[in-house]
This record gives sequence, C-alpha cells and structure tokens, in this order.
Amino acid sequence: MKKIAVIGAGIIGITTAYEIALKGHEVTIFDQNSACAEEASFANGSIFAPNFVSPWTAPGLPKYLFKQLLTEHSPVRFGGFGRKELAWVVKWRSACKMDSYLSHRSQLHNLAVFSKEVLQETTRKLNLDYERTQGLMVLFRTQEERKNSQPSLQIYKEMGVLCSEMSPLEVRTKEPALNTETPLSGGLYFPEDGVANCRQYALLLKEECERLGVVFKFNSKVNPLTFSQPTLIQTQEQSFKFDEVVICSGTQSSVLLSPLNINIPLLPIFGYTLSASIREHIDAPLSAVMDDRYKVTISKMGQRIRVSGISQIGGSSKNPIKGAYKSLYKMLNDWFPGGARTSESVQEWCGARASLPEGVPLIGSTKVPGIWLNVGHGASGWTLSCGAAKAVANLINDELPGINLVGFGVSRLE
Ligand SMILES: Cc1cc2nc3c(=O)[nH]c(=O)nc-3n(C[C@H](O)[C@H](O)[C@H](O)COP(=O)(O)OP(=O)(O)OC[C@H]3O[C@@H](n4cnc5c(N)ncnc54)[C@H](O)[C@@H]3O)c2cc1C
Repeated sequence: MKKIAVIGAGIIGITTAYEIALKGHEVTIFDQNSACAEEASFANGSIFAPNFVSPWTAPGLPKYLFKQLLTEHSPVRFGGFGRKELAWVVKWRSACKMDSYLSHRSQLHNLAVFSKEVLQETTRKLNLDYERTQGLMVLFRTQEERKNSQPSLQIYKEMGVLCSEMSPLEVRTKEPALNTETPLSGGLYFPEDGVANCRQYALLLKEECERLGVVFKFNSKVNPLTFSQPTLIQTQEQSFKFDEVVICSGTQSSVLLSPLNINIPLLPIFGYTLSASIREHIDAPLSAVMDDRYKVTISKMGQRIRVSGISQIGGSSKNPIKGAYKSLYKMLNDWFPGGARTSESVQEWCGARASLPEGVPLIGSTKVPGIWLNVGHGASGWTLSCGAAKAVANLINDELPGINLVGFGVSRLE
C-alpha cells in the first residue's frame, strides 16, 4: 500500500482518488476550496459525448473562427491577449493540420469510449443516481452548414461512430420543442451520447471515496512542488510526505509544476453557462442539442435547462466579457423560446477549461519520480474523466493502463 496525494478535487481529482483508493492505497485529496467540484467542474455544459468528442484543431477551424470573430455572437472571443496567449495560439495553429487532427481525434475518442465504460460500470456498481438524458443532436441552420459537415460525417463513419444524418422533420421528431421559426436545414444525431450532471456525479463519488477511506483536506492550497523524495506537499499550515502525487489541479497545474522544470503549455479558455428552471416541459429539450454555427449546447438537466458555450482567450472568470451571456440567452430563445424561466433566478456562470494546444490531455508519469499528471482535458474533461482516472490508477498500481496511452505522455512536449 502506498501513500498517495491527489491535488485538486474537481471531477478529474475525485475520479482519480476513487480509482486509486479502490486499489487499496491510502489517498489524501487536497483542494483550496471548501468543497469539491467548485471550479471548472461546477456548472459545465454537462454533455457526456464520447462519440462527438473532438479536439478544437480541425484544419478549417482557424479560418472559420477568424471569420466568426467579426460577428456579434462569435463562438470565440478575446478577453485579453499577451505573450502567453500568443505562444499558445501559435502552437494551436500548428496543430490544425489534417494528420495531427485525425490522430488526436482518434486518441480522444478511444479515451472517451473507455471513460464511458468506466462511468457506466461505476454507476451500476454503486447504484448512483444523477441527472442524465440520452441523445445529442447537432443542428445546422443552413444547407451550407450541413454540406460543410460532410467531411466530419465521413470521419465518424470511418471511426465506426453511431451517428445519423437527419432531415429537419426527423430532427423535430427527436426534439419536438425546437422553435419552428428558426431556420433548420438538418442535423446529426448521436444516440449514444447525451447529458449527465458532472457536479452531482462528483459529489456522489466523494461519498464513495470517504467510504473507501480517502481523506479530504479542503481549504488547503498546496504550494508549488519542490524536488524531494518522498514528495513533500506543503500547504500554508502543514507539510505532508507522500510516495506518489497526482496533479489534477486544472488550470493551476502549471504553477504547481514549474519549480520541477515540468513546463506544460496550459491555457485557461473561459466559457459560460446559464441554468434556468424549465417553465413547461413541452417547450424544453428532451436531451441535448448543439448549434453548429455558434458551438452552443442546450441541454435538459432534471428540472433545468443548461445553455453552454463561448471559448474566450485571455481575461478572467471573475470579469465576464460584455455580451457573453446575451449570446447564450439568444441561443436559448432561438431554439427553445419559453422553455425556461429566464425572468427569475437564472444561474450565470463562467469557468475555465484547462486547455493544451493540441487538445489531448497529459496522463501518466513525469521525469520526476513520484509525480503524475492528469491534466489538460480542455472542453471535454467530464467526458474523459472516468477513463483518464482509471488509466492513471492502473499505472500507479504497476498495471497496464487499460487503454493505449501513446501520445498522452508528457514526453510529447519535449
Ligand atoms: C463553460 C464550460 C463548459 C464545459 N462543458 C463541458 C461539457 O459539456 N462536457 C465535458 O465533458 N466537459 C465540459 N467542460 C470541461 C470540463 O468542465 C473540465 O474539463 C473539467 O471540469 C476539468 O476538471 P478538473 O478536475 O481538471 O478541473 P477543476 O474542476 O477546475 O478542478 C481543479 C481543482 O484543483 C484545485 N486546485 C488547483 N490548484 C490547487 C492548489 N494549488 N492547491 C489545492 N487545490 C488546487 C481547484 O481548487 C479545483 O477545485 C466545460 C468547461 C467549461 C468551463
């Protein structure tokens, strides 16, 4: 049995702590907040979509996003731009090549499919009950958008993904509440993907972690790591020694790692969500839709509708940029007018996706003995979490990871 620390109690940290504790190790999880899932895992889009998962590096994307930047409801925005952002964008731009895009996409898909298996197994075994719905529909407003989706559809077919192209009538049969006044030229339907409440799952798994003996240290901000053997974890109040440490600290992971000369090009990409009570179920989505033009998702989560979108480079989650929420209200109104009670107590939330330029997370050991990574899951961290956690736990336990982890190692940055 080893003494293992997990730094970060978001969805990645909680699932990692759970998988490691299942193997019989003594686990302590540290978080600077007073509860788990308080940052990126708090009110994310809650789309759990292993088939739809894809890095934001499709070859045509830079041109598309650049054009969109000039529009009012652009899916990409800037909240500031400095040297760090520039270096990241340059690396991102060079990842937008067909070969690397296809191989990164296939890596993410494999991890996401594994992740879904792990999520389903855990849900069954522990009889977990959290908000879930089945089915994800990508909506095209124009024929041109529909035509532009053909290369992606071809890739889905080659990857063996279950996905069907739908006429406007078929789309409306699946999602009958869609506004008939908003132009719709068709959709792509992913029957095996859908919605699952990330924070609820994290809170349920926390209880299971406690049953397995995991110790939670909240309000404990961990200082940047130093070279030490066994690894020393220092908070403002105390120091602890551990055999292994897993960094699951989201956007703040680079700060913890930089004294160890482990430099990872993580950038927070900010995003926004709205959550509002359903007014009439007959006017609300049955599961989830994504507006392909604006990259905004609208999903049903229990008695609420959640709208999620925008990728903002630079800025801060404490200072939402002007117009961000307005765009989300517009999407809700475009597709499900009257579906939610937007005149009262809407939760408006901004969070940061810890993103690496090529869109593939870092999972595994580092050059520093005892330091492990599970970071950089970008826009799909919830979908990837359970699989990434199990793979790390297997490796720490000297087992095979359970999936092919080539390309997920920190060595790819060297
Ligand atoms: C707007 C938005 C919408 C999204 N929609 C989806 C979606 O629909 N589907 C999907 O799959 N993914 C989605 N994501 C991505 C997903 O939410 C994230 O990838 C995921 O939550 C990341 O989890 P995490 O545990 O790595 O990070 P976090 O949840 O941010 O957790 C990191 C934790 O580390 C702690 N920490 C950091 N530094 C320290 C320190 N020094 N000491 C102690 N604690 C520390 C923090 O307090 C925090 O609790 C979305 C993200 C955003 C922002």
